[in-house]
Amino acid sequence: LLQGSVLPRMAGRAAAAPFSTASGETVRATLFPGDGIGPEIAESVKQVFNVAGVPIEWEEHYVGTEVDPRTESFLTWESLESVRRNKVGLKGPMATPIGKGHRSLNLTLRKELGLYANVRPCNSLPGYKTRYDDVNLVTIRENTEGEYSGLEHQVVRGVVESLKIITRQASLRVAEYAFHYAKTNGRERVSAIHKANIMRKTDGLFLKCCREVAEKYPEIVYEEVIIDNCCMTLVKNPGLFDVLVMPNLYGDIISDLCAGLIGGLGLTPSCNIGEGGICLAEAVHGSAPDIAGKNLANPTALMLSAVMMLRHLQFNNQADRIHNAILQTISEGKFRTADLGGKASTSDFTKAVCDHI
Ligand code: NAD
Repeated sequence: LLQGSVLPRMAGRAAAAPFSTASGETVRATLFPGDGIGPEIAESVKQVFNVAGVPIEWEEHYVGTEVDPRTESFLTWESLESVRRNKVGLKGPMATPIGKGHRSLNLTLRKELGLYANVRPCNSLPGYKTRYDDVNLVTIRENTEGEYSGLEHQVVRGVVESLKIITRQASLRVAEYAFHYAKTNGRERVSAIHKANIMRKTDGLFLKCCREVAEKYPEIVYEEVIIDNCCMTLVKNPGLFDVLVMPNLYGDIISDLCAGLIGGLGLTPSCNIGEGGICLAEAVHGSAPDIAGKNLANPTALMLSAVMMLRHLQFNNQADRIHNAILQTISEGKFRTADLGGKASTSDFTKAVCDHI
């Protein structure tokens, strides 16, 4: 049961990616430990990589203490350059103050690095019982526009406006990624999730682009599902879905719903795919300020994100070993963290995973 990969392989490694293992070289990757629980769970990943002998040298970058005018955020220009140079990295969660302050760190990263698709696999974990045993779906979220374009302003006192931007270019790009992903990962169906009955222009354009791309992939079943119905069906029968592609905001919300199907946010990984073959992996969850600094966080989601990064690098041997060790630890049940009903601390769980590698 625990052999092989539950996580789907990442599609298409960049042809000229600057990493290689054949010669035993060490690969440089950028690491953003991030905020809140980020540094604790990033430490877990480092420990697990050490035990598995992953030949990665981290370039660590922390969120700065003042706004860098070149990025207009607390992220430094040097940290963005590090990802551009290495083309591969792992990111901890970054907190965004609600309703005020600087440009969101996550939005800055997505825009500056052209992270156009966010791939969020969601798989039931063997031995960890939830209502469903067989959840196996992937949300592919458009990552650069929609309601997250950052264009908000006050029209007159008491009236604010937020612009939802959908472009043909970004919609075709994410749709192409979703179909290519489905094809290269043995998936059968792509569902475009939308609200085009109300948002006729924006979601209408998104759907039009998905249809155009679908025609190039006759072997993949294509369907369109209104987001309300999608939520209901996911809760009642998640097995009806396979790969879901959708605009930014819907992807943000639906993937948390999916996390809930398999046991929560502590379990779901993701990978951002960017221009020029960039792969920046990160957990779906945020900085969890309620449990930060308490050694309580579940590092599984970030560890599985790191596994996605390893598969992208084609370090499949280490990816399989780490992945199996995580699944075995959770399946045995002795060292589960509190979010999964257990008593283990972050470090207890990390040690148990290391012992299983
Ligand atoms: P959150 O994901 O941080 O937390 C939601 C709930 O899930 C909390 O109860 C938390 O304790 C729990 N949780 C999350 N991750 C967990 C883990 N690994 N182990 C155990 N429990 C876990 O969402 P939030 O509270 O809405 O957001 C907090 C901050 O994170 C905000 O500033 C938000 O903007 C930011 N955020 C960042 C990202 C990102 O960096 N990609 C994503 C989402 C939210």
